[in-house]
Amino acid sequence: MNNHAVLSASASHRWLNCLPSARLELEFENKSSEAAKEGTAAHELCEHKLKKALHMKSKRPVSEYDDNDMEKYTDTYVDFVMEQYEMAKQVCKDPIVLIEQHLDFSCYVPDGFGTGDCIIIADDKLHIIDFKYGMGVLVDAEDNPQMKLYALGALEIYDSLYDIKEVAMTIFQPRRENVSTWTIAVDELKTWAENELKPKAIMVYNGEGEYVPGEWCTFCRAAVRCRARAEEKLKLAQSEFKLPPLLTDAEIEEILAILPDLTKWANKITAYALDAAVNHGKEWYGFKVVEGRSVRKYKDEDAVAEKAMANGYKDIYRKSLIPLTQMQKLMGKTKFEKILGDLIYKPPGKPTLVPNSDKRKTYNVTNAINEFNKYKEEM
Ligand code: SF4
Repeated sequence: MNNHAVLSASASHRWLNCLPSARLELEFENKSSEAAKEGTAAHELCEHKLKKALHMKSKRPVSEYDDNDMEKYTDTYVDFVMEQYEMAKQVCKDPIVLIEQHLDFSCYVPDGFGTGDCIIIADDKLHIIDFKYGMGVLVDAEDNPQMKLYALGALEIYDSLYDIKEVAMTIFQPRRENVSTWTIAVDELKTWAENELKPKAIMVYNGEGEYVPGEWCTFCRAAVRCRARAEEKLKLAQSEFKLPPLLTDAEIEEILAILPDLTKWANKITAYALDAAVNHGKEWYGFKVVEGRSVRKYKDEDAVAEKAMANGYKDIYRKSLIPLTQMQKLMGKTKFEKILGDLIYKPPGKPTLVPNSDKRKTYNVTNAINEFNKYKEEM
């Protein structure tokens, strides 16, 4: 078995919670998604721009993903780093900035290494900054194991040179307007590394430990076929849906809490089985592939228009505005606000039931009743 980088830093939240997941994931191809490729392009642009800002030599990378948004977001990253650098200069006369630094934390995690996007060292303080271009999941720096691993790797190189006492870790996630910073004393970080990280990492490396499903399953490559996860979902489904004759409010609340996760999991299983059947000829006993519903379409719009007109039908076109986001892109945000600002309104959103932990404020109940009934009529 190839033991190289079994324990990746980016998956550390998962393997610290579900120890055998790292080995199980090796059985599945690590496909690089479009989002991952876009992220790599954004990181390369960040590296280039930061080097330029620090008067270092760099050649601008060429990427098919480069667009106005990437330009803007990478600029904000560089502004943030430079701001941190300026602040460091006020307390230390010669802070250092390291870009795309290789970090080795293999003394805690077998074969463990990673890359720090940016590290600023100012006397006894080390600040590690991680750029995240993704926008799907909001990433918090607090107690973030990936950041802690990077910090340990950085301390391996620089602790003896600078006698670092404190580490700050920042997640810079511009597409979610998220800048999250968390600070920990070096002693505390090393205690965690010795007492918790190291023993668990050795077990993970040796393929030991129990499968523990949880929110960390979401990006696990084994998620769709994982038995532990399936058993957990089915157990929940069975216990929740087999309660005759009438469900109590408390039971409905419990079901509401698990439904999104259950639905997501069920959809993934369906997508996996369909892909296997369509693309790999897999036959599922009791199931067959059929053609889904489709709607009629014009073969050739120009030919349709010509023929309809020739037959005396003139009123065949519908004029419509380009979508709002496209209009804003066309004009630019400032001009869009100036020209059309007073002609834009935001109707109330569809009432949605979410857990109390959701950050949105509670909907006004009267509005909710009206909107709910409106949506019901539209359905
Ligand atoms: S899907 Fe969840 S339970 Fe299964 S191996 Fe992955 S992390 Fe562990």
